[in-house]
Amino acid sequence: MRYEAVPVSALDRIRCNGYDDFGNTVVPRVSEGGEPLRCCLTVAGAGERIALVAHRPMTAGGPYAEVGPVFVHLSACPAPAAGSFPIDYRDRRAVLRPYTADGQMLDGVVADPGTSEIELKRLFEDPAVDSVQVRNVVAGCWNFTVRRQG
Ligand SMILES: [Zn+2]
Repeated sequence: MRYEAVPVSALDRIRCNGYDDFGNTVVPRVSEGGEPLRCCLTVAGAGERIALVAHRPMTAGGPYAEVGPVFVHLSACPAPAAGSFPIDYRDRRAVLRPYTADGQMLDGVVADPGTSEIELKRLFEDPAVDSVQVRNVVAGCWNFTVRRQG
């Protein structure tokens, strides 16, 4: 499986422009600690320079292509390893939302801490599932997208 954060091209554009792709000004803030960062797929420690920006994870468009808030580092950070589940997200409860290749939503699940990888494997057993979005349980905010490898 492949784990996709906010693309580097989008991060570069947002950081360079000083506003996100939906016209919101990038407002610098200092992390309190615990903010899930969608640039490098880590969880922020206290005191990091971050911003909350709007992002649309589903590039294909369609009615399910939601725009939502994501925390990112203010300046460039190492891209996450695409081939492995982000360690900082392993022990979080998560909503796993599967989508077909044409962007229709299928039945999702809530994964308990430590079970997201097992649940992802189970969801991808359905050949109709093209991608799965991992999201926060309460706010529903997108964390990252998982696709079949290759
Ligand atoms: Zn980052």
